[in-house]
Amino acid sequence: MPRLVMKFGGTSVADLERIENAARRVKAEVERGYDVAVIVSAMSGKTNELVGWVRETSMLYDAREYDAVVSSGENVTAGLMALTLQNMGVPARSWQGWQVPLRTNSTHGAARIESIETSNLIQKFGEGLHAVIAGFQGISPEGRITTLGRGGSDTSAVAFAAALEAERCDIYTDVDGVYTTDPRITKKARKLHRISYEEMLELASLGAKVLQTRSVELAMRNKVRLQVRSSFEDSEGTLVCDEEEIVERRVVSGIAHSRDEAKVTVVSVADRPGIAAAIFGPLAEAGVNVDMIVQNTGADNRTDMTFSCPTEEIPRAKAALEEIKSSGDVNYRDIVIDEDVAKVSIVGVGMRSQAGVAHRMFEALAKDGVNIKVITTSEIKVSVLIDRKYLELAVQALHDAFELDRVS
Ligand code: ADP
Ligand code: ASP
Ligand code: MG
Repeated sequence: MPRLVMKFGGTSVADLERIENAARRVKAEVERGYDVAVIVSAMSGKTNELVGWVRETSMLYDAREYDAVVSSGENVTAGLMALTLQNMGVPARSWQGWQVPLRTNSTHGAARIESIETSNLIQKFGEGLHAVIAGFQGISPEGRITTLGRGGSDTSAVAFAAALEAERCDIYTDVDGVYTTDPRITKKARKLHRISYEEMLELASLGAKVLQTRSVELAMRNKVRLQVRSSFEDSEGTLVCDEEEIVERRVVSGIAHSRDEAKVTVVSVADRPGIAAAIFGPLAEAGVNVDMIVQNTGADNRTDMTFSCPTEEIPRAKAALEEIKSSGDVNYRDIVIDEDVAKVSIVGVGMRSQAGVAHRMFEALAKDGVNIKVITTSEIKVSVLIDRKYLELAVQALHDAFELDRVS
């Protein structure tokens, strides 16, 4: 029988009534003749609560125990979903990650999937038993529970779709598809019927929370037909697919934002070969995810080095920078930290063949008095760092400037 993966996010399983609603959708697909693997998230808010408890217990926590705690939210919803399906006459059982098993590496808190053994699931499908799988979790080579990073149930879902050679991977969530920008920021956001893997990958990695970045990466690599749709409405959703399958052509397809960014300037470092490596090597070792980087033109053989990273990584970045100064590896005058910045990015494969896109972006921001602090570009995106208070204004201005509310 053809197989289908259906993933339900936190708001879609937030209480028993919603679990029942989700289960009805599963039942409908079972009746259409699919063997279904249901991937569930924890009830909305649950993972945040669990993370909070861990941090309250221990500031410098053991990441293995963090995973033991935060993975538990998914166990509850998996069991409840299986029970609800059984009540509806759909034979189903729950699976925790280790039971499948879904094997990962040992990077606790942000583990990568290494393999999924599907034989047990397939055997049970053969017995008419549908699978409800706790998302977000796996097992390390040491036999410890791991989690896949926040939003990781999306990645579980795509990985199962690939491993089971499912016909589709449906991501059910609280919006009815992928929009031109986060619909919470502007009412003018428009639902896209289709979006290319590449654009979705950029949007996700630049802050569009609707899909975890790794899930898109995996879908692209394995050619999984990934569909984002609503748990609450019967609308069509958005298909993430190859660029060739998209007829709509536009320069910019979407705008992403990332609110919790910080900007760090290392003031007056020696302008010499190797200085960037001496600064960014230790930052990487400290686990700081450096994003944008600019080096100013120097004078008197000194220069300033500016970079951005997530706000929550600032304590680690500061410690690493202080360490390289006290060890004598890098001498600088000061570190200036601005924790009130945000990143806004425009994304579109059409940028490859169209000049002047960045200019249009800068002009639109200037018109609204938004000052740009750092800029980075790639083939299909332009990102700017701005004051956080202008975030909504900037997204709206860019949405208007590129006429994203218009169907082309
Ligand atoms: P789930 O709990 O189902 O995994 P998430 O909260 O992780 O759901 O993701 C859905 C949210 O993603 C939406 O509520 C929306 O606010 C946000 N989002 C951000 N950018 C976009 C976008 N471009 N299109 C749709 N939703 C987006
Ligand atoms: N429950 C996890 C989280 O909140 C995983 C997920 O929902 O995808 O990050
Ligand atoms: Mg999510």
